Amino acid sequence: MHSIYPTISRFSNNHSIHLRRYNRPFLSHPLPPPLPPRLRTTKLLRLLCTIGTSAINTTQPFTYESKISDRITISKTLKIAIVGFGNFGQFLAKTLVRQGHTILAHSRTDYSDIAADIGVSYYNNADDLSEEHPDVILLCTSVLSTEKVLRSLPLERLKRSTLFVDVLSVKEFAKELFLRILPSDFDILCTHPMFGPESGKHSWEGLPFMYDKVRIGSNESSVLRCENFLEAFSKAGCIMKEMTCDEHDQYAAGSQFITHTVGRILEKLDLGSTPINTKGYERLLDLVENTSSDSFELYYGLFMYNKNAMQQLERLELAFESLKKELSDQLHEVMKKQLFQTKDRHLGVLQEPRALLKLPTNGNGHALPPRSTSDII
Ligand code: NAP
Repeated sequence: MHSIYPTISRFSNNHSIHLRRYNRPFLSHPLPPPLPPRLRTTKLLRLLCTIGTSAINTTQPFTYESKISDRITISKTLKIAIVGFGNFGQFLAKTLVRQGHTILAHSRTDYSDIAADIGVSYYNNADDLSEEHPDVILLCTSVLSTEKVLRSLPLERLKRSTLFVDVLSVKEFAKELFLRILPSDFDILCTHPMFGPESGKHSWEGLPFMYDKVRIGSNESSVLRCENFLEAFSKAGCIMKEMTCDEHDQYAAGSQFITHTVGRILEKLDLGSTPINTKGYERLLDLVENTSSDSFELYYGLFMYNKNAMQQLERLELAFESLKKELSDQLHEVMKKQLFQTKDRHLGVLQEPRALLKLPTNGNGHALPPRSTSDII
């Protein structure tokens, strides 16, 4: 669904009217049926008045457009512009296209061919994309590049009320960025699909989808637009989890970041399949495959932009050290025992009967220390 009505910036710094933006919708979309001459004049006059008002003071509410957009019923299918059409952007696009949404895309790299295969309209130029007036801008850029990409978007060319959604794997950072950069008229929905092109390649059924309605207007069209967007994921079978971005980051550092870290550590071991793989080992190999198919930039973003990640990394290190210590303590115990037994044998003392090694454990769960030689008859 798109508006054929001209939209004029309220965010423009130079207070000028964006003529390209003004012309494009009339040129690129089917024209409405011609109006009778008297009505045509009235419409033109109304239009000129509005332009005049905006040109004089662009900070005034653009009442004509907002009234019209309030009256537009948001259709169930949305016009969604994916910005960042890499691995994850393309993955989401496939399902959204299948659901009947109109998908546009823009990225740093030219993905026109891939987009055409999926059924997505590709725009090399962000201005052209914006002038298509999408209902939703879905940011699928890497965590590290998001601020740069967001700042490069011609926000003034978008519909005044546009829903901005992100899928970044770190949420407090995305929320703070959106609130800082986006004008207050834009709605904000922070999301994190807890799956990727590997784990969700067959289906999204039963996979968690986290979201936080950071700023959704109270008017009906804003509310419906947000619900329709979320429905794309609930309809695909996702388990919808509403929580704050802060809660997400705490959970994700202790789960997703740990998973990726362990996967990447194992990858460094260059593990291979063996003729006697256990189920557990097969799962480890899957983990390596899953995590290594994601870019290192994504992993680095999980670390860099989640304040809880460093603590988890330290805990992981401590856990590894503590496990190693447990093993070496045990080994030390065994070696001590062997050492003393050998020494005793050399001294002609009788060897401790084997049965004694099977003594029950003490309160600490450790084997009882060997009895002193005087106890041995
Ligand atoms: P990624 O490496 O995190 O991001 C790749 C995307 O970022 C591409 O679209 C790329 O554009 C763009 N990009 C990178 N550097 C850029 C720069 N300097 N300027 C402009 N664009 C730049 O890999 P991804 O898997 O596609 O993830 C995209 C987003 O989805 C991330 O925020 C990630 O956290 C989130 N996410 C990913 C998964 C997953 O399983 N992969 C799951 C949930 C959420 P070009 O391709 O045009 O270079």
